[in-house]
This record gives sequence, structure tokens and C-alpha cells, in this order.
Amino acid sequence: LSGLLSVTEAQSKILSNFKPVPSEPVVISACAGRILAEDVLTPLDLPPFANSSMDGFAVRVQDVRGASRESPVMLPVTGDIPAGATAPFTLLPGQAARIMTGAPVPEGADAIVPVEDTDCYPSPPGAPLPETVQIYKGAAPGANVRPRGQDVQEGMLLLRKGRRLEAQDVGLLASVGKKTVNVYRRPKVALFSSGDELVAPGETLQPGQIYDANQYMLAAQVEREGAEVIRLGTAPDHPDAVLALLRQAAAQGADLILTSAGVSVGAFDFVRQVIETHGELGFWRINMRPGKPLAFGHFMEIPLIGLPGNPVSAFTGCRVFVLPAVRLLAGIAQTLPRRERAVLAEPVESDGRESYLRAVVEIEDGSLTARLAGHQGSANLYALVQANALLIVPSGVKSLPLGSEVEIWFLEGNDSGQTGLNPMAGGK
Ligand code: AMP
Ligand code: MG
Repeated sequence: LSGLLSVTEAQSKILSNFKPVPSEPVVISACAGRILAEDVLTPLDLPPFANSSMDGFAVRVQDVRGASRESPVMLPVTGDIPAGATAPFTLLPGQAARIMTGAPVPEGADAIVPVEDTDCYPSPPGAPLPETVQIYKGAAPGANVRPRGQDVQEGMLLLRKGRRLEAQDVGLLASVGKKTVNVYRRPKVALFSSGDELVAPGETLQPGQIYDANQYMLAAQVEREGAEVIRLGTAPDHPDAVLALLRQAAAQGADLILTSAGVSVGAFDFVRQVIETHGELGFWRINMRPGKPLAFGHFMEIPLIGLPGNPVSAFTGCRVFVLPAVRLLAGIAQTLPRRERAVLAEPVESDGRESYLRAVVEIEDGSLTARLAGHQGSANLYALVQANALLIVPSGVKSLPLGSEVEIWFLEGNDSGQTGLNPMAGGK
């Protein structure tokens, strides 16, 4: 294994070249999916004032003690507090005030009796304020009152830097009155495929040609992490063509250049050679399967990752090396994916390299079990599509018996009803 870098070594060498891109203020109506570049503290309490959680009547607990349907307590209704109003009065002993959900609880009241527990139910919209109310149920102190600051207290840390803003986060930002937040700008990833054999989907295949799968697959993976992809198309196997696309990538302000194919040891693998001549190249053979050859370097100071051409190798290399780098650029706090453990439902062979095998993981008797999915060839995308996880065989291990515990890495996507699991749960 001499001359081979371990996956972890390669990962940390690559990641040491990246730091988050600059941030920018963005209005909250456009911030979903973006990565927070600041810690957000709340400038106010939530709720900002004590309010009712029910439509009903504000009362003093003492006045309604022991009330029941058989012997109701009758109280005069001395006020009406709709949501959005204030209660410019104090509730005196022996009084009730009609109150709506979200309306401020008046001074003096210490509980809300739901309208359902009174003789004013049902109460249609527009019902006039009754003169009196019959209370059918007693109330505990604080019943149906949401105290000020129940959810958050002024000055509290609400959302941490590095968090991807989801819908609920946007709702929270709005509810504390934030209009804009600082988020990282989207990293730009320039992407091209290389190979004389490649044509774009939609065109007619001539003998010897194949469709370019990697460009689309890699763009989709990188975009999922919030990057903006600069699609540069396909470079034929000629150094001038490769150089021209690298220059375009730089001209368009790429934060990362991503290529597929042309980095191996073939006579037409020009990507490596061009980077070596016009930039700096670290070419590594990684103790990994699939995806042993990987180019890492710089072109005009822009980091560049050259993935192998076989689609499953490119996919795996992207997940292991590219996506963590993109997440780091994007400012995402969690750069490395979460792995789970599963039990092998069949024996698995490997060649001693750290292997990322295509697997189907299911829940059986309450625990995760893994089987291989389809043909494990590094060109076979259909087998990858059948899988819902990658199964990791550690380096140095050539065979694992049935029942062994292995690490797995769920893939995002449709479950096809195979497992009843939601692979999204472990995807990131
Ligand atoms: P290479 O790295 O150029 O030796 O390519 C390795 C294998 O991957 C060859 O079988 C190529 O035809 C195939 N390949 C390269 N690029 C792509 C691509 N963009 N889409 C699908 N297959 C590819
Ligand atoms: Mg090639």
C-alpha cells in the first residue's frame, strides 16, 4: 500500500485549502436554504407579552373555584380583549373579561377559562359581548396563559453561525422582527467533464460515444450543498481545450474547479498534465475503492479537484472529498457526513482498500441490516440508483462475514419502498 494516501489523509489535505467565502446581508424572504454567517440573538422576548392561548374568559382563579356544569359560577363580563388590542383595565375580583387567542391577559387575571367551558359556547363570529358568563369549570393558576418570554428571552442565542436556514428558522427570525441576516454568499463551483467520447444527452450517439453523466450528477450534488455551478461543458482530450476551460473557470470567479476524468494514467489523460504545466498539481493515488486516482491542485490560485471518470467513482469521490470542501466554502458548520452502523446480512469481500460499496439497508427486527445492491463495477450507475446507502469496508479488511458490524452512509433520495426508511434522515 506504499504510495497510497489514506482517505482521511487526503480529506484533511484537501480541506486545509478551504475557508468560508465572504458573507452578505440577505432579506429573510430570500434566506431559506442559505448558511447563517452570524450568531443571531433575539432582541425581544417571545411571546413579547403574556397572552391567552384560548378563546375564552379571563378570570381570577379564586372566583371560579369549584365551578361545574351543575353549579356554575356567574360573573359579569366587564371587558372585551380581541387579539391586537391592549387591556387598559384591571380585572377586579368577581369580574370576567372576554378574551381571544393571542390577546394580552389583563392585569388582575390569572387564568383563562376556554369558551367551551362556559354558557357562551358556541360563539359565532361577531357574537356580541355578553353581560354575564356562566363558568362551568374551575381553573388552575396560569391556565391557558402563555407567559411573556415562555419561548425565548431577550438576548438569547437563537440560531448559530453555520446553520442552514430552514423554513422554521425563517419563521423564528421573522417572529423576533429580524428583516435581514448575514449569510455566506453561495460558493461558485466551475465544472467540466473531459473526454472525446462524451456527448450531451439529447444528441445522437455515434459509434464509440457515450453520454456525459458526470457533469449532470456532480452539478446536482454540489448544488444540493448550496453552491452555484458554473457549467463549462465538456473538454475534448486535448490540452488546449482543457486549458481554455480552466481559464474560463478563473474568469468567472470560481471558488473551486471540479473536473471529471482525464486524471488517470491513460495516454489521453490531459487534465493532469495541463494543471501540472499551468498550475500546481498534487496527484494522489488514494487507498480507496472506487476512485483511486484523484488530482488536487491549484489553477491561478483556485483549488481544483480532478475526479476520476467512472461515474460511480466520480460520485463517491465527490461525496468523500468535494462535498466537504464545498460545505467548508459555504460556511456550513457540519462538513463531514454522519455515518450509521448496520449489520451485514451477507458476507462481503473487498480488496483491502477502503471501499464504498453500493448497499441496500433495511430495518430488520429493529436494527439496520445491509446487503450489496447490484453490480459493484465503478461504471454502473444503475446499481448506485438501486442502493440507499454506501457500505464502508475499512482499509486492510478483505472479507467481512455475515453478521459483522459495518459503517454505512445513507444516500439522499427515494427509498423505492425497499426499506421503509427515510434515507434523508442520515444523508447529511
Ligand atoms: P478516464 O478517467 O478518462 O480514463 O475515464 C474513465 C472511464 O469513465 C471511461 O470509461 C470513460 O468513458 C468514463 N467517463 C469519463 N467521463 C465520463 C462522464 N462524464 N460520464 C460518463 N462516463 C465517463
Ligand atoms: Mg478519458
